[in-house]
Amino acid sequence: MRLSEMHLKTLREVPSEAELASHILLLRTGMIRKLVSGVYGFMNMGYRSVRKIEDIIRQEMDAKGGQEILMSAVQPAELWQESGRWYAYGPELWRLKDRNGRDFCLGPTHEEIFTDIARADITSHRQLPVNLYQIQTKYRDEARPRFGLMRSREFIMKDAYSFDKDDAGLDESYKKMFSAYERIFKRCGLDCRPVEADSGAIGGSNSHEFTAISEVGESEIAFCESCDMAATLERAEVVDAKPTGSEKDFLPMEDVHTPDSKTIEDVAKYLGISEDKTMKALLFITYNEDGEKDKYVAAFVRGDRELNMTKLINALGIPEHAIEFADEKEMSAVTGCVGGFTGPVGLHDCIVVVDSELPGQVNLVAGANKAEYHTKNVNYGRDYKADILVDLKTLREGDACPVCGKLVKTARGIEVGQVFKLGTKYSESMGAYYKDENQKEKPIVMGCYGIGVTRTLAAVVEQHHDENGIIWPISVAPYHCIITLINPKDDVQRELAESIYTSLQGMGVEVLLDDRTERPGVKFKDADLLGIPIRITVGKLAGEGQVEYKLRRDENKTVISAEEAVAAATQLVSQESDGRIYLK
Ligand code: ATP
Ligand code: MG
Repeated sequence: MRLSEMHLKTLREVPSEAELASHILLLRTGMIRKLVSGVYGFMNMGYRSVRKIEDIIRQEMDAKGGQEILMSAVQPAELWQESGRWYAYGPELWRLKDRNGRDFCLGPTHEEIFTDIARADITSHRQLPVNLYQIQTKYRDEARPRFGLMRSREFIMKDAYSFDKDDAGLDESYKKMFSAYERIFKRCGLDCRPVEADSGAIGGSNSHEFTAISEVGESEIAFCESCDMAATLERAEVVDAKPTGSEKDFLPMEDVHTPDSKTIEDVAKYLGISEDKTMKALLFITYNEDGEKDKYVAAFVRGDRELNMTKLINALGIPEHAIEFADEKEMSAVTGCVGGFTGPVGLHDCIVVVDSELPGQVNLVAGANKAEYHTKNVNYGRDYKADILVDLKTLREGDACPVCGKLVKTARGIEVGQVFKLGTKYSESMGAYYKDENQKEKPIVMGCYGIGVTRTLAAVVEQHHDENGIIWPISVAPYHCIITLINPKDDVQRELAESIYTSLQGMGVEVLLDDRTERPGVKFKDADLLGIPIRITVGKLAGEGQVEYKLRRDENKTVISAEEAVAAATQLVSQESDGRIYLK
């Protein structure tokens, strides 16, 4: 493609709403275009990279027996009502009505649709196992769409669904997808780590997220260097602190005046104790399926801990959207709590959820449910009890590994994919059964497997850029090579550039010819910004048949003959264009 003819609009200015490098660079290169918040289109260069990621996905999915289909984005509400997710998915589900008032949604994921296919088409064990997938546009009305393609409201996803006879079959299917995912992300040039994950709104038992390591990622993961424990912070178990005493150590409760001490930090300072000798209360209200206020919840963790919302939601067995922080005044009137001074003693008419380590921590300081007062020597069993006693805390760097006891580390990353063992959750609720060898009806055992195609694109840019622009891995670059023609009016230069252009095209190299009448500085800047992996500059040395050869990822420039440059580029592209080189 000649740049003089290409539809290309790069921006010099950093778009004001963009914070992440990937968002800034994808907008500046003109690869993506924002329509409204969280809704992006792909321009020619951007769409080429999207298709390359899709092709890698297709190859690896097909290699594991996946069969590609394409279902509609519009889905009837009835299917979601059958699975129970019309309610459970909450406000993220993009709902719409047709002219007759019938309810639909734009699919955020397709478990219901694929289960519907299975129940209609699969009747016998002879049809199992099977794996169907699609690459399709998804819709989620995210509360906070941000970071460009990272968290958008419309995005491209690959979603696959496996159907098996039994759990052993599902294990096999899951393993295949797991290994396909490892290969896909490597071939895209990503440094990615699989970690154990919570299964969230999708449901099911076992799940892993694939996290592209990045400081700016929204996922937090914990891992252990002594064993292979790796999990999202949402999911990671936390080992309870050692008990600090037992019943015989219990001291009598005593109220102390603690003016202006609403936070744990204030109280600990005021009383001259460490935060781990206190108890922290967090107050919530839940909503029922009709959206009405339902129950108050008081959750307690040790003062120095952070509450893990995912664990709380799982303990309560409610969806994420059905809980929010309580209005303290309203809650106080019903339950006896006092904002900033809430403790577990004497609370009523609310669900008390207590972190599993608190019973072992004796003589803690807790709010007295009385303004400006705390109570010393509060002890589990004697002074308060839990309705639910469960691990509620968030893992921190330096905590003990829940598997081997060594110290864990934490890191941030971008969730680019997730795999789930669904089991029979959807097949039972929606009636997808098959007949086994003995003609017995059994629910189909399912797995589901998602990759955010467009989020993967953003993650690649996040991991591969510098202050001048993108540095595409060859496997997902929109073009492999750019020929920068310094002076298009110079016949010798032009002819050499044209001949390199034709030769490279003949060798299957995807090549751009920058034949625009721009200053050389502008051309170099654009080549760097666009991140084209190989640059061949045709300038003053054209008369001697010499060019400058440079890789975007290296500082080095070499002056070589045009033939050598064509050979070098062709060789590099043949080695790296399918990304298999990154599998090693
Ligand atoms: P998140 O926790 O980031 O909201 P999720 O766990 O809800 O994501 P899944 O249901 O597992 O997402 O969807 C599969 C994949 O789709 C994710 O791993 C991610 O790569 C991608 N994805 C999910 N939500 C978005 C979004 N709003 N924008 C872009 N990609 C997304
Ligand atoms: Mg996920």
